[in-house]
Amino acid sequence: MLNLNSAVENINKIGKATAKKLQKLGINNVHDLLYYYPFRYNDYTATVPIAKLEVGANVNVQGEIEFIQNKRSFARRMTITECFVRDETGSLKIIWFNQPFITRSLKTGDKLSVSGRIDQDFAGILMSSPEYEKITAYEATHTKGLVPVYNLTGGLTNKQLRFLIKSIICMATQEPDFLSPAILKKYDLIVLSQSLHDIHFPADSTKLAQAKRRLQFNELFLTQLANEIRKSEIKSHVAMPIIFYEKETKKFVDNLPFTLTGAQKKAAWEILRDLEREEPMSRLLEGDVGSGKTVTVAMAALNVALNKKQIALLAPTEILATQHFATISDLFKNNQITVGLFTRSRRQVNDVYIKSLTSQSDDNNSFLTKKEMLKAVKDGSLEVIIGTHAMLQEAVEFKNLALAVIDEQHRFGVEQRKKLREKTKDQNVIPHLLSMTATPIPRSLAQTVYGDLDLSIINQMPKNRKPIKTYVVPEQKRLGAYEFVKKEISQGRQAFVVCPLITESDKLGVKSVEQEYKKLSQDIFPNLEIAYLHGKMKTTDKEKIMQQFLDNKINILISTSVIEVGVDVPNATLMILEGAERFGMAQLHQFRGRVGRGHFQSYCLLFSSNDDKTAHRLKIFATNNDGFKLAEEDLKMRGPGEVYGTAQKGFPEFKLASLNDRIMVKQAGEVARLIMESGIDNQPLLLNRIKKELNWIAG
Ligand code: ADP
Ligand code: MG
Repeated sequence: MLNLNSAVENINKIGKATAKKLQKLGINNVHDLLYYYPFRYNDYTATVPIAKLEVGANVNVQGEIEFIQNKRSFARRMTITECFVRDETGSLKIIWFNQPFITRSLKTGDKLSVSGRIDQDFAGILMSSPEYEKITAYEATHTKGLVPVYNLTGGLTNKQLRFLIKSIICMATQEPDFLSPAILKKYDLIVLSQSLHDIHFPADSTKLAQAKRRLQFNELFLTQLANEIRKSEIKSHVAMPIIFYEKETKKFVDNLPFTLTGAQKKAAWEILRDLEREEPMSRLLEGDVGSGKTVTVAMAALNVALNKKQIALLAPTEILATQHFATISDLFKNNQITVGLFTRSRRQVNDVYIKSLTSQSDDNNSFLTKKEMLKAVKDGSLEVIIGTHAMLQEAVEFKNLALAVIDEQHRFGVEQRKKLREKTKDQNVIPHLLSMTATPIPRSLAQTVYGDLDLSIINQMPKNRKPIKTYVVPEQKRLGAYEFVKKEISQGRQAFVVCPLITESDKLGVKSVEQEYKKLSQDIFPNLEIAYLHGKMKTTDKEKIMQQFLDNKINILISTSVIEVGVDVPNATLMILEGAERFGMAQLHQFRGRVGRGHFQSYCLLFSSNDDKTAHRLKIFATNNDGFKLAEEDLKMRGPGEVYGTAQKGFPEFKLASLNDRIMVKQAGEVARLIMESGIDNQPLLLNRIKKELNWIAG
């Protein structure tokens, strides 16, 4: 007997080869088949009597085969299958090209259902290459009604898949509903099993709409429920409460070479207030590039260190970790706080730490061996530890980790977040967690996607910042722009060039890094130092080049879109974007944020193929320096999945739902919270579902 978990191999008539192809689509069992939704439907709802057919219509015709035969067309070097079908009103000619096998399955006298477009030739109307199927007493699957069309992989056909799903669609009734009849009624939703049936084989467009609505609701509901569960899981632990040292914090702030923005103060206050509690903090700190997240986090770190507890700061790359180490060591130069850097190739400590080693006072080497580093982390003599993935290894043990900070959180998965949180010895005590991101996700959206995290937003830039000047450069002014670049570089500045591709592709006109490198280094700037970076290079090579750029040994750095956003190169004042039309505004803004980090005036130059739509978008971008505003504009033009999907780890990819559907998002959230309140432990169905589908891991 089949059940929902039966492997596809066990379905009647499926061979090993077909099963393999299905696996490529991620379909392993009956359940997966049911949830493999069509991406569109052929509308063959109208079965039209032959006498009433009109040229150009997309219709279904049913009748009896009067005549069928293959003809060889020597002139056109193909086989033509010619067929006549008759119903009570008339006879219709049908032809297929190069499918001689059709005459093996279709014979004179068979009942046939065909669907397609009505064409015309010199002899009258006809249907050419329609979808077809022999019909018996059963309803047609491929040619009648709203016929599902699926995304396919090599070797599979829609006919096969439809046939397969039809053969197991009765299993949908075995899928129990996790929403109660009362909730279904309240939110005008149909039963799950019905929606699974109707998404594949809807009787009409109303039924299809209802099925879609239910399944969309599921996606939004399950995402939000998963967040609620994560949240309550975290709440079942405790964290070390951090007492707020008001006087010391004030002194730290007073000693900064600048005054904090209101937004920084507010965010710091939200974080510090969370830290005082025994309930573990789970907070996302969102702030545009350059909005000053680091110093905000430093205020939290200061207080944790004053409480004699440890802080870990996780960064996605060695360069970023190294920069944080330098910045934070500098910020803490008047506080007696020990800071360490822990990456795969570098283990370093600050002056405070070196001076604390009184026994070896003549040894002021700031580099440690791995063993020394591990010891310093374990015995607590290092208070702030900044590092990369290397810090997550098993061997790394903390004495009393109270605050875990993750920079550029979208570069890390839930798994890594969890690993960092497990770095306390006592299973019940977990560190407070602070995630940082420079991706401006509007609050409403963040509350759905990162609903398990509280949100602090720094939506204000430091006052002294000179806004970056952005220009869309028409092709005829390209050489002039290069002259400008030369001038900037002759004054000691540096430039980034971003291209959409690594190597030249068939796609015409798209700039590649290699092409651009050749052009700029040979023809345009033969006297300048130019280098390039892309994602396929070895990490060590990438970091080496980035370091040389930081040291101003390279004038122009060409790269793909993958390179670091967080790296601070204050001397770089030019961001040149090739193929700008290929990037969304949120992404363009990230690139632009790599310049304008020093006190020099910075520029962003956009080159693009010019069509009206792009021109409009780039114009909005050029006149706007606010990441949050741009993200909102971007969201209006494209869906959230498109705006953030590829760049953000853990951003949900929905099959049917849209995060832009605010009403449904809200309703689904209501239901998720309702179910949490009534006790998720009484809901094994839902728990299972979430663990399986969303690869849900606590943390
Ligand atoms: P991000 O939010 O992108 O991580 P950073 O924390 O790296 O930004 O800060 C960018 C720069 O702005 C740093 O050089 C930092 O010293 C400076 N900065 C931070 N806050 C302020 C402020 N309130 N006024 C002036 N400069 C500031
Ligand atoms: Mg940063």
